[in-house]
Amino acid sequence: MGKNGALSSASGAGEVQFEEQIRPARFGDFAGQKKIVENLKIFIAAARERDDALDHVLLSGPPGLGKTTLAYIVAHEMGVGIKATSGPVIDKPGNLAGLLTSLEKGDVLFIDEIHRLNPAVEEYLYSAMEDFKLDIMLDSGPSARSVQIAIPPFTLVGATTRAGLLTAPLRARFGINLRLDYYSAELLEKIVQRASRIFGVEIEKDGAFEIARRSRGTPRIANRLLRRARDFAQVNGDLHISKNIAKRTLEALEIDEYGLDEMDKRLISALIEKYRGGPVGVATLAMAVGEEPDTIEEVYEPYLIQEGYIMRTPRGRVATDLAYERFGIDKADPQSSLF
Ligand code: ADP
Repeated sequence: MGKNGALSSASGAGEVQFEEQIRPARFGDFAGQKKIVENLKIFIAAARERDDALDHVLLSGPPGLGKTTLAYIVAHEMGVGIKATSGPVIDKPGNLAGLLTSLEKGDVLFIDEIHRLNPAVEEYLYSAMEDFKLDIMLDSGPSARSVQIAIPPFTLVGATTRAGLLTAPLRARFGINLRLDYYSAELLEKIVQRASRIFGVEIEKDGAFEIARRSRGTPRIANRLLRRARDFAQVNGDLHISKNIAKRTLEALEIDEYGLDEMDKRLISALIEKYRGGPVGVATLAMAVGEEPDTIEEVYEPYLIQEGYIMRTPRGRVATDLAYERFGIDKADPQSSLF
């Protein structure tokens, strides 16, 4: 689930367990992403009718939007098994061979962070995806020879936060290519309500909406905020989340009215105050806020761009008028900032 900071990665055993507990197992429980779900249902029905493995699926989009969840749903709905791993974990072709030969006919192999595959491993994956064959080199030097192993037809589900970093040959081998979008507050409200039911905590509609609209369009964040709100409610004496409790939770976590968190604010403030609103390169900006450039590009920036705070130009990132306005900074006199 990525190397990204607080926003995205499931940190700690409790958090992981919580995610597993509320992860939808069927399309019926998966909110939103309507077009993607509609398409997948058709491809799955057709593959099942032909008794074929589903074509390989590439899921891309920012962390926490449901890529892993969809991979598991695909396996469930196909009625097959799933093995899950992640790009950086498969560091040798031998590891990949081990995984592929352990699959049964039709199974799903889920590779998270597929853009981070070792190039040598990726080469092997090509023929596995295309012809369900693996060419393995035995020995090296004069006694080197290659053997071909047949593997059962399988479905590779790859997930990536950076579709642009996938090599062209790998991308070309996915028959189904789907991009997940951020969720509306209304959908996130439903997700929060479902999670609270599973979680055994009462939540008022207003409370659920307050969390939903301040979750950066991301189910993982909404669910995490719900967990924190439950802590507040519990300390308050009963397991009931009112709008007031939700608001207090968000304030305590320094999430503002617009759902922006500490790092979002630091990014916008650095862009405006240190670089006069840009343009500035992402590496420079990352240095200014003490974060990895990859994390800025994968986690923070997509949302700030979608919400209209930052623009990406060929010369670098630029703060929009909305950024100045929302943060109460006078464009003509940026030093008058409220930060
Ligand atoms: P990703 O793999 O894209 O980082 P995940 O699939 O791990 O994201 O989703 C993170 C959490 O958000 C999961 O625990 C899941 O319960 C929840 N979630 C994601 N998408 C949805 C959805 N469409 N409906 C309900 N819950 C969702």
